[in-house]
Amino acid sequence: MTWVWPYKTFADLTAAGYIFRNASKCSGKDCGREIYWFKSPKGCFMAVDVVDFKPHWSVCPNAEDFKKNEKPNAKEGESARPSRGLRKPSNQANLFDD
Ligand SMILES: [Zn+2]
Repeated sequence: MTWVWPYKTFADLTAAGYIFRNASKCSGKDCGREIYWFKSPKGCFMAVDVVDFKPHWSVCPNAEDFKKNEKPNAKEGESARPSRGLRKPSNQANLFDD
């Protein structure tokens, strides 16, 4: 892979448009390293290793595990939009009442 992470400091990232969200710890079972969560200019969440200041997936021993469920926010979009086609007209619900 030829892609190079050009950022070395917190200030480099924020200058590039990244927004700091919170500090956390990796939930990888063999990892547990401290990470910073940033939101990228494209709107993606990015975990940055606190010690090395690199994308955490590049140093995480459990990186493969995280690739499997990369979209933690996918469910929000689905449930937020009720389908109109499935909604019954309200008067029809009374047809079979007493
Ligand atoms: Zn990790």
